[in-house]
Parts: sequence; C-alpha cells; structure tokens
Amino acid sequence: MRQGHLVDRFNRIATNLRVSVTDICNLRCTYCMSEDMQFIDESKIMTFDEIEQLIRVAVSLGVDKVRITGGEPLVRRGLSDLISKVIKIDGIKDVSLTTNGIGLAKQAQALYDVGLRRINVSLDTLSKAKFQQITRREALAKVLEGLEEAKRCGFDPIKINAVAMRGFTEEEVVNLVSFARENSYEMRFIEFMPLDADDIWGRNMFVPKKELVDKITKLYPLEPVKSSSKLKHETAKHYQFKDGLGKVGFISSVSEPFCDDCNRVRLTADGKFRNCLFATDETDLLTELRKGASNEVIAKMMIESVANKEAGHLINSVDFVKPERNMSMIGG
Ligand code: SAM
Ligand code: SF4
Repeated sequence: MRQGHLVDRFNRIATNLRVSVTDICNLRCTYCMSEDMQFIDESKIMTFDEIEQLIRVAVSLGVDKVRITGGEPLVRRGLSDLISKVIKIDGIKDVSLTTNGIGLAKQAQALYDVGLRRINVSLDTLSKAKFQQITRREALAKVLEGLEEAKRCGFDPIKINAVAMRGFTEEEVVNLVSFARENSYEMRFIEFMPLDADDIWGRNMFVPKKELVDKITKLYPLEPVKSSSKLKHETAKHYQFKDGLGKVGFISSVSEPFCDDCNRVRLTADGKFRNCLFATDETDLLTELRKGASNEVIAKMMIESVANKEAGHLINSVDFVKPERNMSMIGG
C-alpha cells in the first residue's frame, strides 16, 4: 500500500535505493579506504531481516530499484539469500549489485540462481602491479576469474567501474576499453570524488569526462547516445562506439554534476538513511527500528529526510564540506 512519496523541495522523487550490507572490504583502494580502517561493530550492522524490512518500507514509498553495495558486499555471508528476498519484494523492478569481483568466482552462480542479472564489477587496471598499487592488495587474478565466471553464468549487463584518477587512469583507459569491448562488458569511468578516507582528493586529482572521451575516441570513435526519458536519472552519460561494438559510460559527478535529476537515496550498513552521497547528516533508522518503531514511523523518517535534501553537492564550491564518512562507510 503506497503511503506517500519520497519527494524533495525541488520535486525530485527518490525511487532508487542503494543499500550497503557491510562496511568491511577485502581490498583497500586508495581512493576509498585507508589501510587501517576502523570497522563498525558487528552488533550495529543491520541483519538481513532488518535490511528487508527497511527496503519494504522504502518500496511502500515508491522505491522500485535497489542496488546492493558496501564495503564489499560479497564478504557478507549468505548474500544470495538476502538478494533472493529483495528480488521477491512486490513493487521492486530492478535489483543490482556492485562488487570488487573477488568473490564472484565462488558466488556468481548462486547469485544468478536467485535471479540477480545486473552486476557492476570495479576494476581500475589490467596490470598486476598497478592493481596492487591502487588496491593495496594482490587480487587481480581473482577479479578476472570472477568476471569470467559472471560471464559464463549469463549476467547481463556486466559493467566495469573504474575510478578516473589523475596520474593513474590515463594509461589504463585504452586497455580497459579494449578489454571491455572484447568481452562485451560495458566500461564506466567514475570521476574520483572527495570521499576517500585518506584525504588525498584534490581538484587536480580526477580525470574529467572530456579527456577520457578524447583519449578513447582516437582509437575507437565514440558518439553520444541520444538522451531519452529512460536515461534521465542515469548517473552515467552514455557514449556508443561508432562501429557498434558496445557502449561506455562516464559518471562525471565532479565536472558535470547531475544533481538536478537525482532520484537516489542510501542506507548505510549500520542503518542510517542518507538523502545524498555527499550529505553531512544521516537519519538513524536502525536505532528506531530496534526500539520497536512501526513501519509508519520509519516511513515518516524517510519522507522527512528526503524533504530536507539539498539542491546539489557543493564539490565545485568553496562551501563544500566533505562528509565525515568515506565511500566504503557510506556505500558507493
Ligand atoms: N566494494 C565494491 C566495489 O568496489 O565495487 C562496492 C563498494 S565501492 C565503495 C562502490 C563503487 O564506488 C566502486 O565502483 C568504487 O570504484 C567507487 N568509489 C569508491 N571510492 C570512490 C571515490 N572516492 N570516487 C569515486 N568512486 C569511488
Ligand atoms: Fe573496497 Fe570497493 Fe572501497 Fe575498493 S572501492 S576499498 S573494493 S569498498
């Protein structure tokens, strides 16, 4: 039963929920985590039942798209059981997963079997040494094995996310795009955002979309995909190869913010509801839920949070305040 809408002062309606199932990760990507992260106490992490209940409330308010993320979601035991339940929630049209791919070799089939089809795998380089440099771990072979297994299972689309970092990504762009084209993966470049735990972000630290497009198009001519109402809320700007061999997406949150069309809200692994990736405050749903709050009370809290959503992030302004929590704690 629809209780209302998650609508803000600027008439944007939130229909897309990103749920973090853990803040723990088996990598330590330099643009995301620090080497010595303090993880949230397990007792404060949402159980699968709590996650399901909060998603159901969000769905009653119009959410119809859920992305499971983290931390690294595949380190959470039994993730396919949760995904199986989420897929079955009446009103949900789309469930997807963002993962670093390490666990896919073992878990892809189970995820496919419960009905998951859409998957994003983060991969910033195909070089073993550079993988270790960026993630501080040796795991490239596992990720590539995971991607192969996801392809074998039939996941479609398989998107590859690479963070576009100055001094790193320039040399990787063409190799990544070639790899994606060969395997029918869709490559996506995400401009490095100021959400890293080590505070290394700076205005000169991301590679803007324009530069990436120019680089790719020299080898594989690209053209923008005509925008349509279906793509209105997509964070990625899509380009297609002129030879018809696939697409590339650019998430240009810094150089070309897309806040005006934002339809996203987030739930952190410790049950805090966020109306924006860059929000500086959060609404603590889990504590209320554990105190016995009804679904109506939780719904009201979500509605109020969305009503207070800011017009947009201020990354490009002197007034920008970095959120206290980094990407892996928020849920990317
Ligand atoms: N561990 C999973 C993974 O890496 O795909 C899921 C969580 S991760 C936080 C989600 C996405 O956020 C990844 O694609 C990652 O590359 C991206 N990300 C992390 N830190 C970022 C940053 N500072 N700027 C832009 N993207 C970032
Ligand atoms: Fe882990 Fe993903 Fe953050 Fe990398 S981006 S440290 S894989 S949560």
